[in-house]
Amino acid sequence: MTFDPHAPVANDLTAFWMPFTANRQFKGAPRLLVAAEGMHYTSHDGRAILDGTAGLWCVNAGHGRREIVEAVRAMAGQLDYAPAFQMGHPLAFDLANRLVQGMPEGIDHVFFTNSGSEAVETALKIALAYHRTRGEGSRTRLIGRERGYHGVNFGGISVGGIVNNRRLFGGLLGGVDHLPHTHLPERNAFTPGQPAHGAHLADELERLVALHGAETIAAVIVEPMAGSTGVLLPPRGYLERLREITAKHGILLIFDEVITAFGRLGSATAAEHFGVTPDILTTAKAINNAAVPMGATFVTGAIHDAFMTGPDHLIELFHGYTYSAHPLACAAAMATQELYRAEGLLTRARDLEAAWADAVFSLKGLPHVIDLRCMGLIAGIELEPRPGEAGKRAFEVFLKAYEMGLLIRVTGDIIALSPPLIIEPGQIDQLFGTLAEAIRAVP
Ligand code: PMP
Repeated sequence: MTFDPHAPVANDLTAFWMPFTANRQFKGAPRLLVAAEGMHYTSHDGRAILDGTAGLWCVNAGHGRREIVEAVRAMAGQLDYAPAFQMGHPLAFDLANRLVQGMPEGIDHVFFTNSGSEAVETALKIALAYHRTRGEGSRTRLIGRERGYHGVNFGGISVGGIVNNRRLFGGLLGGVDHLPHTHLPERNAFTPGQPAHGAHLADELERLVALHGAETIAAVIVEPMAGSTGVLLPPRGYLERLREITAKHGILLIFDEVITAFGRLGSATAAEHFGVTPDILTTAKAINNAAVPMGATFVTGAIHDAFMTGPDHLIELFHGYTYSAHPLACAAAMATQELYRAEGLLTRARDLEAAWADAVFSLKGLPHVIDLRCMGLIAGIELEPRPGEAGKRAFEVFLKAYEMGLLIRVTGDIIALSPPLIIEPGQIDQLFGTLAEAIRAVP
C-alpha cells in the first residue's frame, strides 16, 4: 500500500499529544481552526471567530497578510535552506541590520533562534559566557522573578516563576534565585496603565545581592510586562530601580520581550516604552507575525565586543541552532517589518489606547470581575474563582466566548486580551460586547 499524504484521516485526534492542553478534555470537544484572514479565524464548523488574542500574542499584523505569504513563497522557491554555521544567506544579514534599527540605542547585535524559549536560553547563556569571557567566571547566578514566564526549556523554567511549569521536572538549574512578583491587587486593583504601588519591590534585588554577593550574580531576567501570568504591568519606577541596581553591581539586565516587542504596548519595544534599556532583550512571536517559527536575542555592543575581543577568536560564542536565521523565517520577518512600518502598526496601540481602556473598564461592575488592567492593546481581566475551583470560571468564560465567536485567552483566573494591532474601533466594541455577555452567562 502506498502512502497518500493527502488522504484525510477524518476526525482522528489520537496521535497528537497537544502542548499545554488537557488532552483528554479537549479531544472530547475539540476546537479546531482551519483558516484565518485579517481579524478572524474560521473554525472547523465554519464559524467566524474574532481573534482577541492575535493567536498567542503573536499575529500583530493580522492574519493571512499577502505580503508575508508572497515573501515566504518566493523564498521557498529560491532558497529552501542554507547551513547556519560557518555559512549564511544575504537576507539574514539584511534582516539583522534592519531589526537592530528598531531597538533602543546601544542594542545593536542580534542572534537568531526559532522560538521565545530558545531566545531566553540564548540570553542566559550569553550572560554567563559574557562574564566568563571577561574574566569574571564567578558570576554564574541567575535571578528571575515569581510569576515570570520565560518559555519551557530548562533555563527558562528555572528562572521562571510558575509552579506548574516547574514541579514535574526535578531540581532544575542550580544557582537560581527569584525576586518577588509585582502583583499587588490590594493596592493597585482597577488601575489602567502602570500601577502606582510596588517600585520598592525592585529593592529586593539589593537583598539578594547582600545574600549572595554581587560577584556571583550574572544576570537578572524579567518580563517588563508579565503576559502569561495575567498581564502584570510594571509599577511606576520599578524597572528604573531594577536598572539602577543591576548597573551598580555589574549585573546584566535581561528583558524578556517575547510578547511586548513589536508594538503591543504602542512602541517598538517595552524598553523604549518605559524608557529603560536592558543589556539583553529577547523577542519572538510578532517578529515575523508568527508566520514561520522565529526568535531573536538582542544584545548591546558592549556585550558583543566582549566576545569579539575575547581570548579565543575561533570559539567566541559556541552556540546556535540548525534553523537559526532560517531563510523562510527571515523572509517572513522582513515582509512583516515592512508592513509594520508602512501601516504604522508599532505605534497603533498608542492611538487606540484610550478607546481600548474605556472598553476594558466598561466591564467594571460585571459579576465576579475583581480587577482590570490594561495598556496599549493588551488587557487582563481578573475573575474571582469559585471556592475550591481555581481557574474554572475563567475557563468556562473562554468556552462560552468561543461558542459566541470570540477567541480570548485564559491563564488561571485571568482573561488576557491582545488582539492584532489592525483591530478597528468597531471590532473593539464587538469584542467587549461579546465578552461581557460571556462573563454574565457564567455563574
Ligand atoms: N517568554 C515570554 C515572555 C513568553 O511570553 C513566551 C511565550 N508566551 C516565551 C518566552 C516562550 O516562547 P515560545 O513559546 O515561542 O518558546
